[in-house]
Amino acid sequence: MKITNLGFPRIGRQRELKFALEKYWRGEINQSQLVQVADELKKLHWDWQSQAGVELVPVGDFAYYDHVLTLSATLNAIPKRHRALDSQGNESPIDLDTLFRVARGRAPSGQHACAAEMTKFFNTNYHYQVPELSQDQQFNIAYTQIFDEVTQAQSFGYQAKPVLIGPVTYLYLSKTIGEFDKLSLLPQLLEAYQQILTRFAEQGVTWVQLDEPVLAADLSGDWQEAIRHSYQFLAQHKPQSVSLLLASYYGSIAHHHALVSALPVEGLHLDLISDKNHLALFLATLSADQVLSLGVINGRNVWAADVDLIAEQIQAVASDLGDRLWIAPSCSLLHSPVDLDSEQQLIPELQGQLAFAKQKLFELTDLHVLLSRADLQAKQLIIDRCQSRRAAKAAHADQQVIDRVARLKANDFERNSEFSSRIFAQHQKLKLPLLPTTTIGSFPQTPAIRGLRSRWRKGEVSDEQYQSQLQWVTKDTIERQLKLGIDVLVHGEAERNDMVEYFAEYLNGVGFTQFGWVQSYGSRCVKPPLIYGDVSRPNAMTVEWATYAQSLTEKPVKGMLTGPVTILHWSFAREDISRETIANQIALAIRDEVVDLEQAGIGIIQIDEPAFREGLPIKQTEWQTYLNWAVNAFKLSAAGVEDQTQIHTHMCYSEFNDTIEAIAAMDADVITIETSRSHMELLNAFESFAYPNDIGPGVYDIHSPNTPSVEEIVELMTKAAAKIPVKQLWVNPDCGLKTRTWDEVEPALRNLVEATKILRRQY
Ligand code: GLN
Ligand code: ZN
Repeated sequence: MKITNLGFPRIGRQRELKFALEKYWRGEINQSQLVQVADELKKLHWDWQSQAGVELVPVGDFAYYDHVLTLSATLNAIPKRHRALDSQGNESPIDLDTLFRVARGRAPSGQHACAAEMTKFFNTNYHYQVPELSQDQQFNIAYTQIFDEVTQAQSFGYQAKPVLIGPVTYLYLSKTIGEFDKLSLLPQLLEAYQQILTRFAEQGVTWVQLDEPVLAADLSGDWQEAIRHSYQFLAQHKPQSVSLLLASYYGSIAHHHALVSALPVEGLHLDLISDKNHLALFLATLSADQVLSLGVINGRNVWAADVDLIAEQIQAVASDLGDRLWIAPSCSLLHSPVDLDSEQQLIPELQGQLAFAKQKLFELTDLHVLLSRADLQAKQLIIDRCQSRRAAKAAHADQQVIDRVARLKANDFERNSEFSSRIFAQHQKLKLPLLPTTTIGSFPQTPAIRGLRSRWRKGEVSDEQYQSQLQWVTKDTIERQLKLGIDVLVHGEAERNDMVEYFAEYLNGVGFTQFGWVQSYGSRCVKPPLIYGDVSRPNAMTVEWATYAQSLTEKPVKGMLTGPVTILHWSFAREDISRETIANQIALAIRDEVVDLEQAGIGIIQIDEPAFREGLPIKQTEWQTYLNWAVNAFKLSAAGVEDQTQIHTHMCYSEFNDTIEAIAAMDADVITIETSRSHMELLNAFESFAYPNDIGPGVYDIHSPNTPSVEEIVELMTKAAAKIPVKQLWVNPDCGLKTRTWDEVEPALRNLVEATKILRRQY
């Protein structure tokens, strides 16, 4: 049996790559200094993997910005606008700055050009640069980073296993410039892969890993055929000395079993975390000389694995397959933080419970020990550690929370009355004009506010000073909104760093790390909270801020909360209970806050769910199950209030057609959404569904520094009113305003209010 790895995070245990990149972009270091940091990281990561017993180290998992982008460069699939020209006007070779121009629209060298699109990589929070392919795209090797890295790894004495996104997934992820069938590019693309494999063979490479996560999706017949054809073609045309490991992950591929098991590849990697049944299914069809790589350690979480239980599960396979069995993480470790050894301040509940990327490799080492003929003492030590970890975890259970979720009844998820009666009661109470104006929650987070928060965290500012300065900011925010004439105000969220972290810090059962960073895109990383235990809310989280803001005005101030689905999705969640149960626990905590806000006199409460759609599974056939519990969790968080209390929700993405039923089922009294860029086309889904509740379609694109004019806003809302009865409409920006400046926000909101006055005269 061999230990193997699909890929390692590149960002560095202290985010060394991030800081080097940003310095390079700012011109503070030169390219060779940046490359040196990258080289040191690669070496360190290969060293760790080798120490853990990984014989074939992955190469090509490192990327200066994004591995999909590196592949585009390798394949010569870089948009013309990002290519630099030499003095004769010919295209210069692709280099590092070319990559940065694609990703960021600019680099220290070359002309600025509009950046390429970026989007989420399957069901992860990693974002990749979408390849742009035109019908006459020619693929050929145009950038040699991966070949250089093979040489690099070899120079340290390592056997390199290059890792590439497979041809079908690459096409699947790309977008076409002009209308044509992407798959028409496949023959050309396969020839380029053939060239790449030939080059690897010349370098002495014996195994190449081709990642086809697309297999986790439902594929139409032509895409299935593309898989079949690609691997048949590569089997026929690749050098004999190179073996292919076809890797799938992020979801079950059982639905493609017949297709995948018939592919002529030398090795198959299966994600057993997504589907335990993969093992029996594919074992039955494994050919006599095929290698089976089993993804048994979750590659995209932070929790220590039960290697003793895993060993029991694969014991029989291990003795049957011998050297043909490889053990691995389920997917690339890209989605895990790097190194637990950096953590100095873990709470006791988290100690012994975690494994980051580096530790996950050593879990494989432990698993190897358990499955080998090593001495019993060594085995027992590992088993004892697993058992005591489970015992410690069990001891932290919060029976009250568990019971409360178990006791939930159908009517806990429902408001007292239907929307039609609620909105009547709300109109009576709130007395808002037609087309009420509001904002989404945050107002500009000035350097002064950010500085204040960080000084307070460091203990340089006392609690009292912090409190009073934030009160001043809140008061200022309320006064500005009053002056602008907005109808439903917000307190501005100046006390919040991040809409999930803020709440996570108040909740029991949720912990934090110091260095648990995961790359989101390029140099951007996120540090998700860790939901390790049963979640509850020991104390009010927002009531003080909301009531303070409300005390300053007669107009309604919205209470502002983050919803359970979003908190769950933007955290690392425990895996010993279902996501549905965790969502319900968080929902109950939020519900407690909602009820407290109502009791404190807050008449409108917004529960943001911007990550609602992100939780959708890759396979459409699994959507409904997710939507059912996600909708319920939201409803549970909201349903504790009286009819006259108005519940808002907010979502900022641009696709509602396929989920409108679920959105309606959430039954928020008001939903505000991001629409300004879609010119209200997004409302079509709401129109054809005859969405019954109130909607605030965004009329101010907050991602742009531009001020929307009165005319533009009138035009957008007129379009909206053609689709949705005007009595259901609100007027608001697309999203929160925290990234903008007051100089941008005030004129925009002034126009928003002005436009609304014109509209009110019209309707
Ligand atoms: N209330 C949050 C804000 O305004 C919502 C942010 C979001 O939707 N991402 O900042
Ligand atoms: Zn938003």
